[in-house]
Amino acid sequence: MSLKPPQTLHLSPGKRVLFLTKDPELIRRQLAGELDLKMKDLTVDDLLDDINTDVMTPAWVCFNHRPEDLAREAYAGLIVDGERLFERDALYGGDFEVIVSGHRKGVGSSRETAVQAEKWSGIKIAVAASFAPIHAANNINQGVLMTDHETLQRLQAGDGVPLEEFYREYDPITQLIVRHGGLFPLAKSVARKEIEWPANNTESRPMTMAEKVLARHALGARDRCVKPGDSLVVEVDGGYSHEFTTAQVQYFLEQEHGTDYRIEAAGRFAVFEDHLIYADEVPRMRPFMDKIERLRELQVEFQRHTGVQDFSAKDGVSPGICHEVAREVLISPGDFIQATDSHTCMGGCNNALAWGVGATEYANLIHSGFTTVEVPESIRFELVGRLPEGVTAKDLMLYILLEFARPQMTLNRVMEFTGPGIASLSMDERATLTNMATECSARGAIVEADEETYRWIEQRRPEIDGVELRQRAVEADPEAHYDGGVHTIDLASIQPMVAHPGDPDHGVPSDPTNGALVEEVDEVAIDIAYGGSCTAGKIDDLIFYHQVVAEAVEAGLTVARGVVFLIQVGSKSVEKYCRENGFMETFAKAGVTVIQPGCGACIGCGPGVSENDDQVTVSAINRNYKGRSGPGKLYLASPLTVAASAFTGRITAYRPGMFLQEQPQTI
Ligand code: SF4
Repeated sequence: MSLKPPQTLHLSPGKRVLFLTKDPELIRRQLAGELDLKMKDLTVDDLLDDINTDVMTPAWVCFNHRPEDLAREAYAGLIVDGERLFERDALYGGDFEVIVSGHRKGVGSSRETAVQAEKWSGIKIAVAASFAPIHAANNINQGVLMTDHETLQRLQAGDGVPLEEFYREYDPITQLIVRHGGLFPLAKSVARKEIEWPANNTESRPMTMAEKVLARHALGARDRCVKPGDSLVVEVDGGYSHEFTTAQVQYFLEQEHGTDYRIEAAGRFAVFEDHLIYADEVPRMRPFMDKIERLRELQVEFQRHTGVQDFSAKDGVSPGICHEVAREVLISPGDFIQATDSHTCMGGCNNALAWGVGATEYANLIHSGFTTVEVPESIRFELVGRLPEGVTAKDLMLYILLEFARPQMTLNRVMEFTGPGIASLSMDERATLTNMATECSARGAIVEADEETYRWIEQRRPEIDGVELRQRAVEADPEAHYDGGVHTIDLASIQPMVAHPGDPDHGVPSDPTNGALVEEVDEVAIDIAYGGSCTAGKIDDLIFYHQVVAEAVEAGLTVARGVVFLIQVGSKSVEKYCRENGFMETFAKAGVTVIQPGCGACIGCGPGVSENDDQVTVSAINRNYKGRSGPGKLYLASPLTVAASAFTGRITAYRPGMFLQEQPQTI
């Protein structure tokens, strides 16, 4: 529960400030109660930078859905010399109310549990030189104040700091959230009609696709124009959660509204069982199976209580990865979609605006039917030409990650994909582009609709009104302004790419923006080839894998000695397509292991994760952050590269006919 913060902030008598220093010994002594530091005696350079949310709450900690339980394992992922620096209860029992770090606090995944672990350990103020945007939003929603090191010095000197200094840089609605102590208390004030939302008075102007979607959904000022930075209260067309997140949503709703809570428009929302479905196949996850089972049970309770659409597993088989199924059956052009997973942005391939939110925001929006948004800036990619043979949308995305995301041009912006080149990309390939917007640290991504968009949706939803589908689509106004610029990419210039795993021990982080041409990567021998996940388990991805595997089989090859090649289909409909087209027989002949629908590799909870440091994986998934998919090294690549590498045993770009020419070693 959150309380309204006082108008003037002071440090509380008897409470402590924890400095996350680069020197682990100083942290150890603070946790042991032997040392209390002052900001005036330190510099920002003494403090840890880039604290990752996986470090704050590793996946296994998130199996505790109650924030007070996961707080006891706060910072369990901060490992020094193979040992946990924060033992169980170290933060929780330390009487700390302020936590201090260096630059970019809260990078990595969007998991809100990172904030919860601190808040339920008693932290009221987080101090850093900068915060990752989603982590900052999670702090705001949870009522944790954020400030800089100078303000901390004043607090430690005994000064009072006006609350206004903690929020005056924010947009008007975010200011309201901070002043009320978080999103839930604000929503209650709104329900009691104690406050009115700030009006949006933006004059008529040309708009981007994202701006048009938000303008259309704005409560109270529907169809007025909007511009980046505007604060809006918007209606949400739909959303979903999965078994890794639903239990928290239910918990927050019960805490805030009682066990008899009701949600608005249950039919527009859904639950999926897809993320932990194969966790028992990962040895490191087996000790947590009872907690995982509890998460499943709680999701079932939530679904029965609320009546949201049910995409639970049947006989242990998932209907599919939430993002894949959602674009097939739930998401339409012009929709505004919110769900509790960072790859929610994938829905943008259907000309919708979609992004992932934390459990707090999701619980609030399904209860009230609306959410708050600061209109994001946009960046536009004008695609021309066609991708060369052997090159896929994944290669294009790895190129965009390197050239545009790495220099932060996509940061917090909506990526718009337009231009004549779109027509040459299938809906599945468009979905690869929008899926990886989150790796670009973008807010989301949206693709211009065309007849292929409508045909693809109508084929899967025969009951849908085709006229309405077309009317709801959005396109950018010709004079729309793009803060991130308009960039023309000639698809014909794209070549097979990888993102390498960096060298985290020597300061080169594992990052999807570590792009390189496959031909520049020297003879990297692999142990695992993985094709699957929300990014690469679609029908076209399976066609790519099959294309390579069929050629290899024709050349008399099987998967290279010592390599495991796993292909996981994204949904039951993808699996059905593979069966009907004989793919399964080809995969079996080549020695490929095919796995039923589901995901989890990117959180270390499913097939395809490495088990030791020495293993090298080439994977068609979306992220290669160190440790998230096991302890080994992970290269990101296209489905074609993954499949070709599985037969050569080293990272290799696919070329048509390559196996007949090369005849690599076989078993
Ligand atoms: S890759 Fe799979 S596990 Fe990772 S965020 Fe996407 S859907 Fe979830």
